[in-house]
Amino acid sequence: MSGTVAEEAREILRSARALVVELGEEGVEWTADAREAAAVRSAGPARPAPGAQASVPPPTAPVAASAATAPRTPGRDAPRRTLESVREDLGECTRCRLHEGRQRIVFGDGNPAADLLFVGEGPGEQEDLQGLPFVGRAGELLTNMIEKGLGLRRSDVYICNIVKCRPPGNRTPLPDEVFACRPFLDGQIDAVAPRVIVALGKPATSLLLGRDVSITRVRGTWHDYRGIPVMPTFHPAFVLRQYTAENRRLVWEDLKAALARSREGAPQ
Ligand code: SF4
Repeated sequence: MSGTVAEEAREILRSARALVVELGEEGVEWTADAREAAAVRSAGPARPAPGAQASVPPPTAPVAASAATAPRTPGRDAPRRTLESVREDLGECTRCRLHEGRQRIVFGDGNPAADLLFVGEGPGEQEDLQGLPFVGRAGELLTNMIEKGLGLRRSDVYICNIVKCRPPGNRTPLPDEVFACRPFLDGQIDAVAPRVIVALGKPATSLLLGRDVSITRVRGTWHDYRGIPVMPTFHPAFVLRQYTAENRRLVWEDLKAALARSREGAPQ
């Protein structure tokens, strides 16, 4: 075995061991079937009524990939909400059952005028304890990708989740939970008005695209959410679980494409 291959194998083993520990600690249940089913249920209307139930009808219409070039709304220079006002509206939210088990609301983190906005699924154990998104092992990988890969500081981008409270056992959020929290995700997107949204994983991508998606099929392709280009890619937790050179390469490609697009037409 060559030195390079041996080091690669050691790296994979290290990551696998760490992941097993982390998943055990966080009680993660990464069953593909559950994720598939939940993501279908998670996609919903743009502005659901708080407290809407699981029987709420499904998703908005699919978004054509060509819509990625449509004018963005409300526009970076237009008057818009602030993150502070969205957070104020959220308050000590009890709009869905997820408030019952949370330690902290995990609202979001980063530059309030970021060009790149990352959306994940929901807080895990560390996020719940610290009140910050993506600070566990998956968050460490995401931060490394942003800082070492893209050459940005984590504080240059904005990071948030579909739901702001940790689902018990890190399960996928239920439809009524997603519906209750979605206005605040939309508020964050309106406030930040990013040039590009990076959707991390299937649930976030399905929600933003308004339809159930196969993340393997749609990652790396451009879509649109309310006029903002969306780049879906694998969730960092998936990359940790499937720590292959190919998966890392694909995520790098997606993130580099997102960064390049976010810089198109931007002041130098
Ligand atoms: S997940 Fe969202 S809607 Fe539900 S309690 Fe938490 S902040 Fe409120």
